Amino acid sequence: MTRSPIWHPFTQHALQPDATMVARGKGAWLETPDGRRILDAISSWWVVTHGHCHPRIVSAIRRQAEILDQVIFAGFTHEGAEAVARRLVEITPAGLDHVFFSDSGSTSVEVGLKMALGYWRNMGSQRTRIVALEHGYHGDTIGTMSAGARGVFSAPYEPLLFEVARVPFPSAGSEQASLDALEKACGDRQAAAFVIEPLVLGAGGMHIYEARVLAEMARICRQSGTLLIADEVMTGFGRTGTLFACEQAGVEPDIACYAKGITGGSLPLAVTMCRAEIFDAHYSQDRRRTFYHSSSYTANPIACAAALASLEIWKDEPVLERVRRLGEMQEERLAPFRGDARFANVRRLGTIAALDLVSDSAGYLADVGPRLYDFFVARGLLLRPLGNTIYVMPPYCIEAGDLDLIYAAIDAAPSAVGGSGRRP
Ligand SMILES: *Cc1c(COP(=O)(O)O)cnc(C)c1O
Repeated sequence: MTRSPIWHPFTQHALQPDATMVARGKGAWLETPDGRRILDAISSWWVVTHGHCHPRIVSAIRRQAEILDQVIFAGFTHEGAEAVARRLVEITPAGLDHVFFSDSGSTSVEVGLKMALGYWRNMGSQRTRIVALEHGYHGDTIGTMSAGARGVFSAPYEPLLFEVARVPFPSAGSEQASLDALEKACGDRQAAAFVIEPLVLGAGGMHIYEARVLAEMARICRQSGTLLIADEVMTGFGRTGTLFACEQAGVEPDIACYAKGITGGSLPLAVTMCRAEIFDAHYSQDRRRTFYHSSSYTANPIACAAALASLEIWKDEPVLERVRRLGEMQEERLAPFRGDARFANVRRLGTIAALDLVSDSAGYLADVGPRLYDFFVARGLLLRPLGNTIYVMPPYCIEAGDLDLIYAAIDAAPSAVGGSGRRP
């Protein structure tokens, strides 16, 4: 076979020369060209909600592709985008009345940061400081990398990243220190925005914190006039047990970013939503106050049709009930691992379950991560541990028996990959 010219994301080709070829997807399952089935236990990087190739989404895409494939979105609009925007305003936290389309989670956060800076500039303020949370992840563009945790991923680009004020993660027992640090970072009223993943920090290691802390953080932002940017790229559309994570804290952010699950995981689409004050600060006879941001495929009609179909599924089908059931099924299977010395930090939020394999090496580069990955894939399971953190984040249609396969593999993993059973 000739060598593929493809350079894959987050892939060290010298260590992982062969990508698994996938031919088909249905529900929670993927299938290779030779018919081998692989259970998609991480929703294909957290995007698939209702399952692969949901018939209603597929037919919406097919219909739209025959009518209007793409149209410029500056000066033009189309009914699909209008309908998605109207629906999003209805279902997202109160106050998010304006919808800016883009095409990836990173871009939606980048747009959120630019909206915040544009807002303050147009208000005649000098506020430019961005405040972010330790272990945060907001994307891989220069701007979102700047806001995210620094490490091996960002090291080569460090000279180009901008400074942010970093607030320590509010882990159990140290919530007050985190709130105090936020108060300090915002207290001089020079902070433009605080960007945060509500309730759970995904790529940083599935770190969960309390809704009460998020509510307190929102209060501190409001008091200091700092804009609150909720990065719900991962948490949105049911992952945490509610449609949006902010709901659990009763938080109404100034800016919110949604992407991954917005089309049910079928096509790339993202939105950044904001309060009227932020839109109004850009509304002017003066062209210099325009929000200058776009990507070519902004609000692509086929992606919008997929999003609309997914939103209709949310409306017509008991998706929240399915999400609640999945949470329960995860909890039942996770319970035996609590108190199992081979694992630590067994945790769950909504449909997301995570646990850390106790091993001598920790962190993302812990070589136990790739060994776990290989072990799971060999058993027909797509699980992609973050270092020694194993997490299960399946599509909501996954069946109990399929979850059993996942947890049986997790149970067998430590002896297969050599977890030490000792704290590092
Ligand atoms: C995945 C993710 C992003 C980036 O989204 P992309 O679509 O991969 O660009 C941003 N923020 C959070 C919280 C994410 O999980």
